Amino acid sequence: MFTLAYPSYIPFMTYSENRDLRKTMYMANATKSCKNDALDNQKNVLRIVELRYQRANLLGYKNHAHFVLEEQMAKTPEKVKTFLNDLLHKAKPFAVKEMNELTKFAQSLGFEGELQAWDTAFYREKLKQKLFDLDDEKLKPYFKLENVVNGVFQVAGKLYGLKFKEITNIDKYHPEVTTYEVTDQNNQLVSLFYADFHPREGKRNGAWMTSFNDQYIKDGKNNRPHIVNVCNFTKPTETKPSLLTFSEVTTLFHEFGHALHGMLANTVYPSLSGTSVYRDFVELPSQVLENWCYEEEALKLFAKHYQTNEVIPIELIEKIKASANFMEATNIVRQLNFGILDMAWHTTNPTEITSVFEFENTATKETQLTPVVENTCVSTAFSHIFQGGYSSGYYSYKWAEVLDADAFYYFKEQGIFNQEVADKFKNNVLSKGGSEHPMDLYIKFRGKEPDSNALLKRAGLLEERG
Ligand SMILES: [Zn+2]
Repeated sequence: MFTLAYPSYIPFMTYSENRDLRKTMYMANATKSCKNDALDNQKNVLRIVELRYQRANLLGYKNHAHFVLEEQMAKTPEKVKTFLNDLLHKAKPFAVKEMNELTKFAQSLGFEGELQAWDTAFYREKLKQKLFDLDDEKLKPYFKLENVVNGVFQVAGKLYGLKFKEITNIDKYHPEVTTYEVTDQNNQLVSLFYADFHPREGKRNGAWMTSFNDQYIKDGKNNRPHIVNVCNFTKPTETKPSLLTFSEVTTLFHEFGHALHGMLANTVYPSLSGTSVYRDFVELPSQVLENWCYEEEALKLFAKHYQTNEVIPIELIEKIKASANFMEATNIVRQLNFGILDMAWHTTNPTEITSVFEFENTATKETQLTPVVENTCVSTAFSHIFQGGYSSGYYSYKWAEVLDADAFYYFKEQGIFNQEVADKFKNNVLSKGGSEHPMDLYIKFRGKEPDSNALLKRAGLLEERG
């Protein structure tokens, strides 16, 4: 009854006690399109990288990665490779340690031998439960939707002086949408904001930000934007309000971070306004705002029990933080594995590649934390880079995390509601859209280039320096 679709595969690998079946599922997933049958993708992979390489050459670039990265914050393949390898170098010793601890824990439960790829998710979950005993039901009462929305508005108010007033005199596309007028300290209109938070028939899954009308300046008139956040949170009932899981709380902050990027835009051209920036920069405003969800100073503004009004206890906050960092070095190395593989495919001259298996094994030798399993292959099912638009772009997930960790570290040093830092972020990042190169904007905000140590510090992997 189980399939390889993630909502089926992941829970199976996490919870199934049957090791043989976990191995069967793992092998089915890890040998997708590389079994030398009619659905084998090895030739397709080689052909795709060959054509991309040729196109890059025709356009005057050394390879596909150079072509793609020219219009990214990272700029060059060398910069990306240095970034990935530097992070790997720093995170790997911790990842090895985490895996050793996981092995010891598994052994304490009677496991013998070496943990294999089909064992890690299963024992991780057991260890996580043992260490944190943190389930959604305990946290949800503190995160009533209205309180969380009010919380993110307060955070935006303290940081950027924004005020939100619900209005009912504008058109909306569905009665469940709530509309707000957003103004600044001087009561000037900043934006209209539409919030569409609950699922209904025909509505797409997931969460996102978009705009109905972009900001731009024409003939001296500043056209203010119409910004939208769409989510799919459980609807309230007659007797129970909509209570969010912690991950939904961070989702709301994330999407609202994108919304701020749109609302505070202040550029001439609509095509460069708001979130119209390079892909490896666009997640900075969203991800950085998630950090406020882990801070007592912010949580006490809104994380109040929906029945008793009691503020969330500090022990719960500490547990949320600790569990967010659980086996983080291992997670980092896993993401680096994909980023490094992506860069290898798109910076190598394809005439030098003969075997997909061999090429992949060589490229990812340093990122393996469990024994390599014969006849398995990531590349033939790596749809992000061979089907979707992430070729030479997989690194940007980790890149964006470094940006947000480094940016938030600055806030944290000066105070999470420090006005000077907030002003710098607003004036150099949130309002500038794509009107300047993102690295220039970042340096104007931060005074220096992003530092990957911030990510490791946040994960508790590096000592804080005084
Ligand atoms: Zn996002």
